[in-house]
Amino acid sequence: MDLPPFRPPSEAFSYLIRVVRGCNWNRCAFCSMYKNLKFEQRPKEEIFRDIDEIPKFFPRSKSAFLGDSNPLIHKDIVEIVRYLKNNRPEVERITAYARIKTIANMREEKLRELKSAGLTRLHMGLESGDEEVLKKVSKGITPRDAIEAGKKAGKFFETTYYVITGLGGVERSKEHAENTAKVINEAKPTFVRIRNLTITNPEMQRILEPLNAEQQLEELRNLLSGIKVETYFTCDHVSNYIFTDRGLVFRGVHGRIPEEKEEMLKSIEDTLETIKALRKAGMKVLTSNDMFRLGLITL
Ligand code: SF4
Repeated sequence: MDLPPFRPPSEAFSYLIRVVRGCNWNRCAFCSMYKNLKFEQRPKEEIFRDIDEIPKFFPRSKSAFLGDSNPLIHKDIVEIVRYLKNNRPEVERITAYARIKTIANMREEKLRELKSAGLTRLHMGLESGDEEVLKKVSKGITPRDAIEAGKKAGKFFETTYYVITGLGGVERSKEHAENTAKVINEAKPTFVRIRNLTITNPEMQRILEPLNAEQQLEELRNLLSGIKVETYFTCDHVSNYIFTDRGLVFRGVHGRIPEEKEEMLKSIEDTLETIKALRKAGMKVLTSNDMFRLGLITL
């Protein structure tokens, strides 16, 4: 069985089905997920065989995730989703990673077909709503694409937009937060999932100055403050954690906007106060990027 090497944390208990290998874009400066992998579409017969063999490899699940980074461009994707739905009737939720550019350019008719075949949720990497940041990291999308893709996909599926705090570096932090919130307000994703930038390659070191813990929290606060639409906001990844010599001081915030927004903002403010006090007391405060650089965590 050929499994996708990456999946969102929310798909931890899903059947994992590899539809394509690698990423057909593969140029984002911050991403090293598929750098050494040649992009290819797996033959549908192989995928059907994997679907038939799911009970040998996975405990029974009500959800399935399609990988790798952009399976919706597979020429047989509708047939593959339909085969999965028909042959694993226990599956209620079928999700996939999807490139925003692909969805922005996709005919609505194709999205409708995918929905009727059984696809229910898309995980899409927005990363930033700021045009300059998107260009700088070679994301290959514009804020306009992100709004278009969100509106289009939202008619048929639940959608997740991933955002990377720190992606604008210190110099573009304010614009990155503000413009990302603006895109989210128009695209209206069901979920906003935050990752904090962890630099894994020298190119990113050259193009920006990483945020320290306080700057990370201030950017997160600015982003969250700017989001005015109903969505679920979550920092559901270890990259959001902030560490001290004695353990964790921040595990991210999670909650519904607007109901839990004030509570999340308060938690960020409280953490900022705590960090100030810790710094005064001479303690080290480290972001996940610092921890990764020091070899103290892997992501
Ligand atoms: S589109 Fe996604 S998987 Fe592909 S290089 Fe960019 S971040 Fe990585």
